[in-house]
This record gives sequence, C-alpha cells and structure tokens, in this order.
Amino acid sequence: MSIDRAGLNALMEITSRPELVFVRGQGSWLEDHTGKRYLDFIQGWAVNCLGHNHPAMIEALTRQSQQLINPSPAFYNQPSIDLAVRIVESSCFDRVFFANSGAEANEGAIKLARKWGQLHRKGAYKIITFDHSFHGRTLATMSASGKAGWDTKFAPQVEGFPKAELNDLDSVRALIDDQTVAVMLEPVQGEAGVIPATREFLQDLRALTRERGLLLIVDEVQSGMGRTGRMYAYQHAGIEPDIMTLGKGIGGGVPLSALCAREAVCCFEHGDQGGTYNGNPLMTAVGVAIFDTLSAPGFLDEVNARGRQLSAGLMALSDKWGMKGERGQGLLRALVMDRDDGPALVLAARERTPEGLLLNAPRGNLLRFMPALNVTADEIDTMLAWLDDLITKARA
Ligand SMILES: *Cc1c(COP(=O)(O)O)cnc(C)c1O
Repeated sequence: MSIDRAGLNALMEITSRPELVFVRGQGSWLEDHTGKRYLDFIQGWAVNCLGHNHPAMIEALTRQSQQLINPSPAFYNQPSIDLAVRIVESSCFDRVFFANSGAEANEGAIKLARKWGQLHRKGAYKIITFDHSFHGRTLATMSASGKAGWDTKFAPQVEGFPKAELNDLDSVRALIDDQTVAVMLEPVQGEAGVIPATREFLQDLRALTRERGLLLIVDEVQSGMGRTGRMYAYQHAGIEPDIMTLGKGIGGGVPLSALCAREAVCCFEHGDQGGTYNGNPLMTAVGVAIFDTLSAPGFLDEVNARGRQLSAGLMALSDKWGMKGERGQGLLRALVMDRDDGPALVLAARERTPEGLLLNAPRGNLLRFMPALNVTADEIDTMLAWLDDLITKARA
C-alpha cells in the first residue's frame, strides 16, 4: 500500500507526524503500510493496557455492537452498571460518572468540586494544582495544568488554579485561602516525565486537606487501571481521596473515562452534568472486559514483575552509559539520560530495520516507557537490547 499524500493534507495539522500509516496491531506489535513491524512501547500513550486488539476487547466490542450501542445517557444500560459496580467495589469511591476522555472526566471533577464549594464552603472555587502537571486540553484542564506557557495560550483561560510544587507540602499550605475548595494532582506525573508523588507527601496532603476541609482529587487518567502495579496508584500510599478520574487504560484503546467520587461529594443536581455519549454500552462493555482481565488473579503480580525487569534493565543501561538513572512505578517508567538524545533516539528507533521500535521522549533528556501491561519478558529484553544498540550508534 502507498500513501495518498493529498489525503494526508485533508487532516488538520496539529503536530509533526511521520509519513507512516499504521494498518494493523497485535499485542505489543504494530504494522505500517509497507508491512514493517514495530515493537510498541508507547501503546497510544499508555492507553492500550492489554496491547493492540486483545481478544477480550474484540469479543466485548463484537458482542455488544450486535446487541445495543447507545440507548441515550438518559436511560440505564447494563454494561455501564456492571463497570460502575466493579470500580466502586475495587476502590474507596461510591459512585461513577462515565465520560469519553481524560480531559472530560477532569472537567467533571472540577465542576463537582466547585459545586461542592458552592453548597458547603461558601462559594470557594479555587483548586490547587501543581507545576508541570497535565490534566488535559480543554480550556479548564489546560488552565489546571502546570505546563509552561499554558496559562497564556488561548487567553483568557479559566481562573482559579494556583500552582504548588509536587512533594512540597509547604508550597500547598501557602496557597490555601478561604476561596480554596480542593487540591488536585497526578499520583505519578506522567507528561512531566514520570515523577511520582512520594508516599509521605500523599499522606501529608490527605491529612492537610482533611484538616482544612478541602477535597483531594487524584487524576489517575495515566496512573490508574494497573499501570503502576496496583489497580489505582493512590492505593500505594494507603490514602482515600475524595474524587478520582480515570481514562486511558480504562477503555484499553476505545474512548472511555470515569469520574469517581465518595457519596458525601456527589452533589450534582439534575442538569449539572451529562453528555451525549456518556456511559454508552459499547464502550463500557469494553471497560468491563478490560477490568476483568486486569483483576484476574496474578495479572497485577505479573505487571509488577515486568516493572521490576524493566527497571533493572533501564538501570543497567544507565550505569553502562553514565546516565542519571531511571524512575517510575510498575510499567510507567523513564530513563533519565545525561544529554538531550531523546528525540534523536526516538527517530532512530522508529527508523530501525528490519523492525522498528516506538518510544517517547517527553523531555529532551528523557525516554518514557509505557508498554502494554501484558508485555512479555522477551519483549522487554528485546526492547532493552535494541535500545542499547541504538545508544551505541548514537554515541559512536
Ligand atoms: C492523558 C491525560 C489526560 C487527558 O486525557 P485525554 O483522554 O487525552 O483527554 C489527563 N490527565 C492525565 C494525567 C493524562 O495523562
């Protein structure tokens, strides 16, 4: 198959994309229009938690598409109930609202916190978020994000998101005033380069928010659904947040996200929240299949074993090449290099022959790894060997 260049120009330009058209995927492997195969350690940005085209997902999509696709969010459907029950039973939350993207779930979390502030905190509306954080690309979630320059792009943005520093409780304390209603953070900052909030910080933050009567919101769009080796990353810290958002892995590749909250916080009145596709049975049926695969006995043990393998392998590469180590939790990891080789390595990895390797460099000196959660030990060894080879060539 050849590429129709005029066709490429029919798509709006939003980023620089390689001239490759991907046609097929299976597990940890993707295939392009020329038949070249790629070992995929991006997986749609940590989205395809079971890799490409997992049989459980295909079965759920096929079965549900033949039965019922969208009765409207104004009526109940069974798959959305089944998935909500699973999330509620596996977490500290009592109710779930389904949406279609991480940003939309976070918008819901922000609205829920502001509503709660109107009802219980005399109209307090400010939500403290963190430098370098990423919460999505809608106006409010861009404003909530701590990415440099995002506060002036598309100005005026949504106000009320003062920024604290991750793992620095005093920086949070200093921002609290009588307009503050919540603190929102990623348990592991993903886009920032895989920076975990420490267990101690999360525990202290929970204590501080309780003491000051503030809500604690965890954005687990990237860290949730087994990515860090627990179903939800907040569980590593032994805390109970008030609100959690899920995305990415919850749909395994199809558009699905969730806003989860404890009963005391569920204060939306009729008409406050909704959306045409929210909780549709086609996506939530996939969510149920994903959830049951992730929670099968032994699955997360295997994620942890593969996480340890990847961590040890990256550490060995770092030692060999005089780099600055590796970090992360479970199968969300980063290699911290000693120079800004990231983009060049990403390019060389993709152009590698006969098989390519798909990697991501969120910062110049950083490679991020987010393979399928069912990646095999052999696939990790293969990736590490190829990466070693690519670094050798880059430094020759
Ligand atoms: C990807 C991501 C989002 C945004 O999710 P979309 O589905 O792209 O809207 C929000 N928060 C975090 C932590 C993410 O990693």
